[in-house]
Amino acid sequence: MSSPLSLTILGCHSASPKANAHPTSQVLELRGHIFLIDCGEGTQVRLRKSKVKFSRIKHIFISHLHGDHIFGLVGLISTFGMMKRTEKLHVYGPKGIKELILTQLKITASFTTYPIEFIELSNDESEVVFEDEKVRVSTIPLEHRIYANGYLFQEVNPPRKLNLPLLEDLGVDKVYYGKLQKGSDVEHENKLIKSDDVCFVESPKSYAFCSDTVYRPQIVPLIKDVFLLYHEATFLETEADLCQKTKHSTALQAATIANAANAKHLILGHFSARYNDLTMFVSEAKQVFENVELAETLKRFYFE
Ligand SMILES: [Zn+2]
Repeated sequence: MSSPLSLTILGCHSASPKANAHPTSQVLELRGHIFLIDCGEGTQVRLRKSKVKFSRIKHIFISHLHGDHIFGLVGLISTFGMMKRTEKLHVYGPKGIKELILTQLKITASFTTYPIEFIELSNDESEVVFEDEKVRVSTIPLEHRIYANGYLFQEVNPPRKLNLPLLEDLGVDKVYYGKLQKGSDVEHENKLIKSDDVCFVESPKSYAFCSDTVYRPQIVPLIKDVFLLYHEATFLETEADLCQKTKHSTALQAATIANAANAKHLILGHFSARYNDLTMFVSEAKQVFENVELAETLKRFYFE
């Protein structure tokens, strides 16, 4: 097994917030990291509800500078200050995000007690924006009314796991398990037990966030074989004519991307307020991709 991946939806609707429809934001947990993705209005309230510890958020990824993806960010940054945060915050987003946030902080006489590093993006090609020994994050260039990127989060160096049934069959003493897992071979009853024979590594988990965008097949090679894909589905095919004008996608188009990319799971989101019943999004997507679910505020998708 690779490490668990969990995705908590804090908001998954387009346009203005409503009583039960919140703009885009989500929390990804992967290999001990907590990544906040987009920060629409009211994100911090739903972060509280989801019980995510604010101090664990060190990296915030913003897709584009439309209000339904950014209007909650200055509030959250200000709250971090009131909590007397000292740890550095990394904010990734389109060029202009630094000026946008710093101007709001300055004019509202807000202060931060901690450093913020802005990683401003303007590239039209995919680029790696974060990497450590466990996770790599790269951009997925999208096509929207303004400059926009999705993000691909990939587990790297997935941990070695012990094949426990095999070790028990071989009668290997548990005192050797730690060594074997770390890659060392051990001697057991005059027999050499090779670490590679009793350990395995499952395929790394990955998550692609693609919102907001018009149908864009160029995404497919960037997210090939992705484990979990979140793709915007603002409209149904009955409103497909609105997609080119507004640069959004339909549920069928999102599913077509998932199918072409050979994704394992698809989550649809960024629903237009015009739809009261979202079940049609599932049936439309299932025409081309079976393993599809709808995003829902405060729903947590968990994968072992
Ligand atoms: Zn949007």
